[in-house]
Amino acid sequence: MELIEHYVGGKKFSGGSKKTGKVFNPATGEQSAEVKLASKSDLDDAVKIANKAFVEWSNKPPLYRARILFKFKELIEKYSDELTKIIVAEHGKVYEDAKGSLTRGLEVVEFACGIPQLLKGEFTENVGTNVDSWSLRQPLGVCAGITPFNFPAMVPMWMFPIAIACGNTFILKPSEKDPSCSLRLAELFSEAGLPDGVLNIVNGDKESVDAIIENKDIAAVSFVGSTPIAKYIYENCAKNEKRVQALGGAKNHCVVMPDCDLDQAVNGLMGAAYGSAGERCMAQSVAVAVGDIGDKLVKNLIKKVEALKVGPGMDKKSEMGPLVTKQHLEKVKGYVDLGVKEGAKLVVDGRNLKLQGYEKGFYIGGCLFDHVKKNMRIYKEEIFGPVLSVIRAKNFDEALDLVNSHEYGNGVSIFTRDGDTGRTFSSKAKIGMVGINIPIPVPMAFHSFGGWKRSLFGDQHMHGPEGVRFYTKLKTITSRWPSGFKSNPEFIMPTMK
Ligand code: NAD
Repeated sequence: MELIEHYVGGKKFSGGSKKTGKVFNPATGEQSAEVKLASKSDLDDAVKIANKAFVEWSNKPPLYRARILFKFKELIEKYSDELTKIIVAEHGKVYEDAKGSLTRGLEVVEFACGIPQLLKGEFTENVGTNVDSWSLRQPLGVCAGITPFNFPAMVPMWMFPIAIACGNTFILKPSEKDPSCSLRLAELFSEAGLPDGVLNIVNGDKESVDAIIENKDIAAVSFVGSTPIAKYIYENCAKNEKRVQALGGAKNHCVVMPDCDLDQAVNGLMGAAYGSAGERCMAQSVAVAVGDIGDKLVKNLIKKVEALKVGPGMDKKSEMGPLVTKQHLEKVKGYVDLGVKEGAKLVVDGRNLKLQGYEKGFYIGGCLFDHVKKNMRIYKEEIFGPVLSVIRAKNFDEALDLVNSHEYGNGVSIFTRDGDTGRTFSSKAKIGMVGINIPIPVPMAFHSFGGWKRSLFGDQHMHGPEGVRFYTKLKTITSRWPSGFKSNPEFIMPTMK
């Protein structure tokens, strides 16, 4: 059985912990590896190395750092097939989808290549007579990232390329369910010329996360995962005086207006609800059918959900792969059982799907509920599987109220042909990322990604300009040179002279 270790100081690192976790191939249901789970002292050892590396790395010119990022970008492109296959093997999503998610991570590296431009400060000549002032952004020190299973390349790449470009060093604790892609990315970054100790991967579970929270040499923590853990990270990092951004779960609505292009809405919903088996934080799990469009929408969806091609991620014909683990499969099936008990109408039932030759794989077919009500748990809670709930709303105001009353605020979209409706919706929705006739409005790398309400704890979104702000601290310098200036003690608040 393969043993997956850590990557610290530019090489494999075993650490002292004997604890391991199991990694599966979700397509076959077979265990594929054991992964080391770090102890507190393993994590602390890695931080010592990252802290030492910070001294030189933070002193390198931004252009020097950018040139290494350019090489890293080339290596990701060169090895994209290998990286994609690693994602498919441990996560289960279909090959082209996995490749797309790698590309979205690569785009953050491309953005970070512009770091000399991004770090340029602001200068004012003569803030007072012969007094100049300028502001600049400096790196924080050792930063840490804690990431979820559902995007093993993209989410870590929302974080470390920007943190490192800004001059920080980084400890990444990827999901213990699919750790291999992060390790391969770290090796490629080393091959690109990244000095040892700048990017370190420490595998682990709660023990290593708590060690990150408690380590005094970690200046900032970026987290992406479920809401209860995001809240725990946010509160405890703050208690330990760290800068923190913690992105949580979601329940994204798609509002389908009666005037929309129904084909576009149905196709958009199919990809957004069932792509990646619904294991996306921007997956649409609620369709809000407005006015009289409900019956037509559901009729069209039923045909497409029943025709969904479910299979292993490496099979080119598969549109949807398995779920990540057996436990997660059981959780999702449990929610479908619950929906039936709660009185929602299960119009497509994927629970009994069996795939010949893959009987042990973690598969479930697409599930579709109609007549879901807002007091049901299947509406209120995140299921994180291929389960779409249709809820009916009398009019636009009722639909907007549903969106705004929900505890989550990650993404939302509206399908309409009316500009006024689209604009009002985008302005009034209490949600971080809004799509108008766009089913999954994930911002590009040069914008920033983040939700509102209980989908994000903290102030800064990830990547893009907010990422640069998160991974740097602002300093403002005011200076005057002595020639021609007579100084006297001044006891009053200085003002412009
Ligand atoms: P998770 O919260 O279980 O795990 C995320 C990370 O936290 C992992 O690295 C895990 O090892 C660690 N962790 C788990 N339990 C912990 C505990 N008790 N104490 C400390 N650390 C712990 O999430 P997941 O199941 O890996 O990922 C799915 C979740 O992530 C979904 O809720 C999804 O919406 C969310 N997600 C959100 C975004 C976003 O941008 N908002 C993006 C991707 C995923």
